[in-house]
Formats: sequence, structure tokens, C-alpha cells
Amino acid sequence: MQQEATRLLQAGNTIALVPTMGYFHEGHLALMREGRKQGDALITSIFVNPTQFGPSEDFQAYPRDLNRDARLAESVGVDVIFAPEAEMMYDQGHQTYVTLDALSLYLCGPSRPGHFRGVATVVTKLFNIVRPQVALFGEKDYQQLAVIRRLARDLYFDVRIIGVPTVREADGLAMSSRNTYLSPDERRSALSIHQSIQLAQEGVAKGIKDARQLVAETSGLIHSHPHTKIDYVTLCDPETLEDVKRVDEPSLMALAVWVGHTRLIDNAILTP
Ligand code: AMP
Repeated sequence: MQQEATRLLQAGNTIALVPTMGYFHEGHLALMREGRKQGDALITSIFVNPTQFGPSEDFQAYPRDLNRDARLAESVGVDVIFAPEAEMMYDQGHQTYVTLDALSLYLCGPSRPGHFRGVATVVTKLFNIVRPQVALFGEKDYQQLAVIRRLARDLYFDVRIIGVPTVREADGLAMSSRNTYLSPDERRSALSIHQSIQLAQEGVAKGIKDARQLVAETSGLIHSHPHTKIDYVTLCDPETLEDVKRVDEPSLMALAVWVGHTRLIDNAILTP
């Protein structure tokens, strides 16, 4: 991959990179379509990164289908798929990690210790291997996008980070490779995540500003569906991710909800 990147760059191409864990859905393909417009050479990486999974998380169970992914990637014009083995990305003596201070403490930070360290480390490796001028990430993983923007800035990566809006199923559920874990019953309950954000959006549009009230209404709607357990529902500053008490400015509503054994996340900016 490094040799191929050198060849592409020496021939005057700009490289666009879409990092993924594979098992593609329309969300991934939206990133690739945007990447196709942004770079001469479009590279997508497929790597289920072990260091971003906790010991009790779904690293082993995470869905994988490289052949199907390759077909889908080709259909949207991906030039190169980079799908390394774990031993290649982390050899036996590996001991260097990238960590962020504040940004990794909020939202998913407390329930997924080490997750953003794994993400920041693997993205740093991918940037060094692929040397993209543009890299695309989904707004669905809002905190991840914030972490990567900060990381690129702090470490002087000469790469433009582009956020792509969340792609949803027809009924509003944010697309995720993990949706495949849901039973039909759980799938119905999972819809409450998006519905509850819409409820908060309507509340803000009607003039409700109190974050506690908005969070309570959001949580109430989710709890009224079976199989759900809230990890967090937060209203925060879209840049720093620190909690806000009132929605006087555009604020990020972010949530993580267990539906059965599946942990799902979603978010939206609420604008008063
Ligand atoms: P993943 O394979 O889940 O690690 O996701 C790879 C990239 O696709 C990340 O930048 C995600 O934020 C992005 N992504 C995942 N789901 C969606 C979605 N529903 N809409 C837009 N982007 C997404």
C-alpha cells in the first residue's frame, strides 16, 4: 500500500481515503461517492481494528464479508481496497498509541474506555500508510469525527477531513453494520432512537431550551419501547462536547442506546 501510494502521488494524483471496518451499507457508499468527487485516486480501507474494541465487545462477532464489500466498492468507483491483517497493523513489538485528552472523555468515552485511543491510533497509521490529501468520515460517529479533526490538526497531518451526513433507512434508523444484529422486534424498538431525537428537535423548535427537560423527554420515549436501555442521552457543545444546560446555540444531541445486546448511537444538531 505504501508503494502504491507513492506511485499514485508521484504521478500527480490526489488521494482520497475512506477508512471503514467493512460490511458495507449505503452510509459507507455515500462516503465513497463523495470521496470519488474529492480525489483522483479513491482508496478505502477495510480493517476491523482490534484496539478500538473493549474486552467484552463484539470484535469477534463483528460482521465481515470482503467479497461482497469489494463488489460494492467497485460499483462506486473505488480504485484500491486496503485490507490489512491485524498482525500487519500491530506487529509483536507494537507499543505506540495516540491518545486525546478531553475529547475522548465525553459521550462514548466512559462506557468504551480505550475506544478512541484505538481509533486515533489506527487512523494515524492509515494516514501514514496511505498519505491521503482528503479523508472522509461519517457524522453518524460524531465524536469520532471530532477526534479525527483534532488529531489531524494537532499532529499536522496535511489532510482535509470531510464529514458526510448520516444515511438512514427509509424509516429513519441510522444505517450501521451492527443493525444486522437486531431481531425484528428489536429493530422496531431501535426506531425510537431517531424518533426521540426528532421529538427533541420539535421541542427546541417550540421554544424549549432546558437541556434537562429535553433529555428527559427523549429518554422517556426510548424507555417506552421494549428491549431498550439507555447508555447516555446528552446535549452538548458541538465543538468541545461539554454538556450544555440550555439550548441557546445550536447544540449536539448525542445518544447511545442498548437494544437487546446491540449498542447503537445516533445524533443531530438541534438549532433553536
Ligand atoms: P464503520 O465501518 O462503521 O467503522 O464506518 C466507517 C465510516 O462510515 C465511518 O466514518 C462512519 O462514521 C461512516 N458511517 C457509518 N455509518 C454511517 C451512516 N449511516 N451514514 C454515514 N456514514 C456512516
